[in-house]
Amino acid sequence: MPKPKVAFYWCASCGGCEETVVDLAEDILGVVEQVDIVLWPVAMDFKYHHIHAMPDRSIYATLLNGAIRSTEQEEMAHLLRRKSQYLIAYGSCAATGGIPGLANQFSREHLMRFVYEETPSMANEGKVRPQRKFAESGREVQLPDLHHVVRALDQVVDVDYYVPGCPPTPNITREAIGALLSGKLPAKGTVLAPDTALCSECPRVSTKPTDVSFTAFKRPHEVQLDPAVCFLAQGVVCMGPATRAGCGSQCPSGNMPCTGCFGGTTRVHDQGAKILSSLCSNIAAKDEPGIRKTLEGIPDPVGTFYRYGLAKSLLRRKVDLPVGTGAAKE
Ligand code: SF4
Ligand code: SF4
Repeated sequence: MPKPKVAFYWCASCGGCEETVVDLAEDILGVVEQVDIVLWPVAMDFKYHHIHAMPDRSIYATLLNGAIRSTEQEEMAHLLRRKSQYLIAYGSCAATGGIPGLANQFSREHLMRFVYEETPSMANEGKVRPQRKFAESGREVQLPDLHHVVRALDQVVDVDYYVPGCPPTPNITREAIGALLSGKLPAKGTVLAPDTALCSECPRVSTKPTDVSFTAFKRPHEVQLDPAVCFLAQGVVCMGPATRAGCGSQCPSGNMPCTGCFGGTTRVHDQGAKILSSLCSNIAAKDEPGIRKTLEGIPDPVGTFYRYGLAKSLLRRKVDLPVGTGAAKE
């Protein structure tokens, strides 16, 4: 009996999600034995025409990591959707926009100007920017265009399942692949991780304050962190109460607060707003100067509360009018 065909693909991604697949260590051999990997650009050479030539729905499952920022990524998302029976948003960037989604705070023009002209380490006297087309010796090279916003995968195509994490842990990955191969799958649209808050599995939960009153917020490097006490009790923002469990509390176990990469549970409509409302309603100061002073301890609120989910949050993005040529609108 032929093995099910599986594909791995990456879009606006740092490569960390690909690392997780490699981190399956010897288990990767077990996976390889059970499936036929038909596409994995980080490990094997593939060309577009190879994928185009595949019959529609001939790939059993595609695990796609990374957000959608460029026209090429959008085209690949549509192509792989068509070729796959199951399309899995693998990792925070594909599931909720992830770190690349933080770029939605700025217009595309702002980003291009900063990266190619204003970054302190940039030497670009001619203010040269990437050209979409370049011709030399009778040959033409084309680059994809950048969209005005970063989008999660399901803001572009239909998605069957989500595997959260930045990156997803090997355990979560192993379980997701196991569920796919067994065919025992939950309802379409399910996030393949426990639907409980991280605090439920955190070893510090017994010290989590039930009645806290914040007089100041501190960042992890500003305080000698007690490795046994809940971060909130130490005045350090921890996203655990608004974040899905399943990572094994790796960050709290490593004496770092949760930054929210597993996204919210099904009961959380907007992860950033959830933790914001909880923290801000517990600020000790009741007058505006006092509240502002306390909030100075959180110098980057968007990066703190929406680090992985800005693209799909209620805030979503800065309003931006089309500039330049050729970029598709949201
Ligand atoms: S989810 Fe995290 S590890 Fe995966 S591509 Fe995005 S930034 Fe990298
Ligand atoms: S708030 Fe953070 S440190 Fe405290 S119990 Fe929840 S996950 Fe653990």
